[in-house]
Amino acid sequence: MTSQKEMFDRLCRSGVDLAAYSTYEIGGEAAHLALPRSTEEVALLLDGARTRGLNPYLFGMGSNTLFPDAPDPDMLFFSLKEHIEFKLLPGRLFVSAGTPMTLLALFGLYTGIDSFDFTFLLPGTLGAGIYMNAKYFSHQISDVLETAYVIDKEHPEKGIVPIPLSGCEYGYKTSIFMRRPLIVVGADLKLPVDPQLTPAQTDELFARLKAKNLPTSVLPNYFRHYTNELNAAARAGLNVRQELLDVIADRGGKLHFDYPSCGSVFKNNYTIGEPMGKLVDRLGLRGTVRGGAKISDHHGNIIQNRGGAKAGDVTDLVKLVQEKVEAQFGFVPEPELVIV
Ligand SMILES: Cc1cc2nc3c(=O)[nH]c(=O)nc-3n(C[C@H](O)[C@H](O)[C@H](O)COP(=O)(O)OP(=O)(O)OC[C@H]3O[C@@H](n4cnc5c(N)ncnc54)[C@H](O)[C@@H]3O)c2cc1C
Repeated sequence: MTSQKEMFDRLCRSGVDLAAYSTYEIGGEAAHLALPRSTEEVALLLDGARTRGLNPYLFGMGSNTLFPDAPDPDMLFFSLKEHIEFKLLPGRLFVSAGTPMTLLALFGLYTGIDSFDFTFLLPGTLGAGIYMNAKYFSHQISDVLETAYVIDKEHPEKGIVPIPLSGCEYGYKTSIFMRRPLIVVGADLKLPVDPQLTPAQTDELFARLKAKNLPTSVLPNYFRHYTNELNAAARAGLNVRQELLDVIADRGGKLHFDYPSCGSVFKNNYTIGEPMGKLVDRLGLRGTVRGGAKISDHHGNIIQNRGGAKAGDVTDLVKLVQEKVEAQFGFVPEPELVIV
């Protein structure tokens, strides 16, 4: 029989470059990295980390995370992005936390359900989307969430605990998950209508969605892969809603996927009346370079890795924007980017 220790050792890899796990393509060598494929493996990792005195650090696709150049050797980095699971239930869809959000939009494409359209080309996993209430224009994850299922990092012995939408304390890019050490392992998402599928069609659909997953954090590949999927569906005669095509035009037009980045760096401050990108523009900071990092020429709230950027280059630009915005507009912008 395999011991707990052997299972932990089998799950963990050492000397892995974190740069391959972040859309910033920045991050040094992690002493411990694991990609659990089930909630049982998550529990085992937490238990093993506690016994070994390691500090577990959870992430998804790394599309909102700046990893350090020299990670602490006592950290156990783990991502749920290889845990992809769907279950169709009456009036709802169970989805595991590691599932890329964009697959929800594909689920909608194949079933005629439009409530997930806003997740198309929204990088990242559902778990992180639930954590930070990911948003695209007026739509956000809290619009489609019914129940989140979590493990308390400090009390894994409690098992999986459901949190209904009303308990998630959602606001603009904020939630209970940002204030408490909760690992989202899955969620029930609302379905406006039940897709009329036989069990065989349901199995086929979920197998197809899983096959469409592209486990990469390289943004141009991500964009090309899912855009091609939509174009292929249109060519095959599927009704592709205009909203989905608009996402391609909008995100492609803003050059979101041309260089490694984590999307918007700062949250907007709605009391100011202008989005962060506009404030950075007004300060004339677009195009500012520090080392290999650059404030995008096209969007003041995006800092790109233009080649060989270090985490310190990005944080230098973060500090510069914070100082200039504070001096000119009287507030310190809050990063949306998670800086490890
Ligand atoms: C090109 C580009 C465009 C973007 N556009 C948008 C946009 O329009 N709207 C938007 O909201 N965001 C946008 N983002 C940011 C990103 O898509 C979201 O923040 C997304 O939710 C991050 O998912 P992830 O899996 O990559 O998270 P990660 O970067 O891996 O993790 C982010 C945070 O979530 C926590 N987390 C991850 N998984 C879990 C879990 N299972 N349980 C609890 N906590 C967890 C991590 O601990 C970390 O603190 C964009 C990013 C890029 C690169």
